[in-house]
Amino acid sequence: MTAPRAPIEVREFPRPDLPPGAALLRTLRSEVCGTDVHLWHGRLSGVPYPIIPGHVSAGTIDAARGPLKGIDGADLREGDRAVFFDVHRTCGRCRACTVHRTPTRCSSRRVYGITDSADEGLFGGWADAIYLEPGVALARLPDAVSLDDYIGGGCGLLTAVHIVERAEIRLGDAVVVQGAGAVGLSTIALSRIAGAGLVIAIGAPADRLALAREMGADAVLDLAFTSAEERRQAVLDATHGEGADIVLEAAGAPAAVPEGLDLARVGGRYVIAGHYTDVGPVPVNAHHQINRKHLEIRGCWGSEARHFLRALSILERHPHLPFRKIGARRYGLGQLNEALADAEAMRIPKALVDPSLS
Ligand SMILES: [Zn+2]
Ligand SMILES: [Zn+2]
Repeated sequence: MTAPRAPIEVREFPRPDLPPGAALLRTLRSEVCGTDVHLWHGRLSGVPYPIIPGHVSAGTIDAARGPLKGIDGADLREGDRAVFFDVHRTCGRCRACTVHRTPTRCSSRRVYGITDSADEGLFGGWADAIYLEPGVALARLPDAVSLDDYIGGGCGLLTAVHIVERAEIRLGDAVVVQGAGAVGLSTIALSRIAGAGLVIAIGAPADRLALAREMGADAVLDLAFTSAEERRQAVLDATHGEGADIVLEAAGAPAAVPEGLDLARVGGRYVIAGHYTDVGPVPVNAHHQINRKHLEIRGCWGSEARHFLRALSILERHPHLPFRKIGARRYGLGQLNEALADAEAMRIPKALVDPSLS
């Protein structure tokens, strides 16, 4: 991706020399997610174009310099199926890391496929190979987890692990999930696993809402066929007239926020995770929607290595969950413009990148 709005170009890079502790991953799958569309629209600040997009990816270890150990404790060898946490160089020493315990806000933090320039090397998954620099958090892809389930979950699943952690769902909670994209779909599944007694999904279109049900939603409310007031009434009807214990925003649309505030019960909790780019301000009535409701609002930014590891064990232990269906179609490196166009038009929740396709 050479610049915002420019067509994706296929370029050749030299095979990198590996310093001790580094590895080269032969890419088997990567993804085209909503963030990649934002990157292509130029809506993320400080992106060092040209970049090789694709932050969450999976492959086989093609070469390694010295012994490699995964953060799951496994020894990794050439030929093993491996995955890695796309966030690297979190410093562990700055105020965000140490004092505030918010490592996802570390200013040294870098992310494969987003903040790493192609001029520095193979730091992205839309490629035949990915350079894994020393210190990148690696793990073996469990034998029971298919590539398509791992990438179908992908970055949305990692984000959802963090969202559900921030939400502190208790057994039996009524949870509303706003958004039925890759993040929302994973959030629905994890809310269920976390013990929610009722999960209501709000989103569109119909096929995503059908998938929302397969991921564990008890009820779905289609944005295209209901008004905000109808949705509020439906949530009240399902919760003894109180509203949801927990509302999870994974929509990224400004209007979702005032609506979410209205869907939460008095003393409830609202986690905002879908506003990854600045989509502008929205009117909020602080008296009615926050103060008088005694509402708790939490932001949720990025994910940490522990969310990555947890996502792997969730995939391993819940093989019935159809994460693979989130990744609707595979595209080769020569079809990435088409993949971006499909993701931009929201024709599919997520496009998968498979470099073995021409
Ligand atoms: Zn730091
Ligand atoms: Zn992503």
